[in-house]
Amino acid sequence: MTASLPAPLNPPVRLLMGPGPSEIHPRVLRALAANTVGHLDPYYLGLMNDMQQMLRALFRTENPMTMAISATGSAGMESTVVNLIEPGDSMIVCVNGVFGERMVDVAGRAGANVTRVDRPWGEVFEPSHLKEALAKAKPKVVGIVMAETSTGAWQPLEEISQLVHDAGALLLVDAVTALGGVPVEVDKWKIDAIYSGSQKCLSCPPGLAPASFSPAALEVILNRKTKVQSWYLDVSMLAKYWGSERVYHHTAPINMTYGLYEAARIILEEGQEAAFGRHLRNHQALKAGLAAIGIRYASAEGHQLPMLNAVHIPAGIDDAKVRGGLLNCFGIEIGGGLGAFKGKVWRIGLMGHGSRQTNVLTFLGALEQLLAEQGYKFEQGASVAAANGVYLAK
Ligand SMILES: *Cc1c(COP(=O)(O)O)cnc(C)c1O
Repeated sequence: MTASLPAPLNPPVRLLMGPGPSEIHPRVLRALAANTVGHLDPYYLGLMNDMQQMLRALFRTENPMTMAISATGSAGMESTVVNLIEPGDSMIVCVNGVFGERMVDVAGRAGANVTRVDRPWGEVFEPSHLKEALAKAKPKVVGIVMAETSTGAWQPLEEISQLVHDAGALLLVDAVTALGGVPVEVDKWKIDAIYSGSQKCLSCPPGLAPASFSPAALEVILNRKTKVQSWYLDVSMLAKYWGSERVYHHTAPINMTYGLYEAARIILEEGQEAAFGRHLRNHQALKAGLAAIGIRYASAEGHQLPMLNAVHIPAGIDDAKVRGGLLNCFGIEIGGGLGAFKGKVWRIGLMGHGSRQTNVLTFLGALEQLLAEQGYKFEQGASVAAANGVYLAK
């Protein structure tokens, strides 16, 4: 018996309003479908140069070693950690959610002697929270997540960077959800190693991890006593591919590069400040809408990310029914809670191209219907009216 041929590919159209992947810009989808050239084709090499230039603009850095790692955001995390850490090195990791937790795991596997500093989920780190650990652990590297996608907390970095450098350590930053949604100032904040992901605020499918290493970080990497434990993510080798030598290392995902290229162009064309302003405005509208129907944020006031809105599920409301209803009746995907927030929060993404008033108003209208179905007490229409109030205000 021969197995029957599986159905032709026909994915449903979804409104991706979760923690990522986010809505893909139509121009990015078209770029992905362009003719594939060889990865050492002069056209592609030119594209790599332009891509590096645009990534430097997005990261706001002059770092020569700025590139896109050929894998997802987690590989960005892994690349920064395994290149900077040699077995036995001391590393502090700040943990206030899932991704800090992941960094602890990655650092431990790389052989780091890890000191974790914890904060409650939804809270951020103040410099004072790190002082003691810095004095005790004398770390080579301090890792921190700028936009904790599991909690919606927005971590300020400027003062912490000062403290970390005063202690003689390198600062490693997770900007997976931050890049493209809020300002990320690599040079101004003296970030030594940073990575992002293509599928959050860059409006691209998952598959590439923009990353950048400061000259200080590069010096540490080039003076290692041991080889980087990962062949694929060894920055000294990647530098030869992305640098002027263009030595073959691995076959770059050509069409993904097209996608990220166009995605970066779209942000620079809009203007980064304009893009940040748009993210903020749509967040404010969503927040006003949710507040009007009694839904509160799970992240600390004053530290809420515009692109990832983590909110408490109202008491008595069935999480799975609401998220299932959003997906099945409206084609809208939002995220559930992870880890400590499992079953307790919803994560509503307004990332990149997905940060639009159309999405805010559509989501609020749909949510109201599903909450009403479950007998939730609120003034119907109030969320959309409140969001419109924000949009109408000058
Ligand atoms: C999504 C995310 C990651 C992991 O990226 P993947 O592309 O899923 O591998 C890491 N850190 C943060 C903060 C994220 O939001």
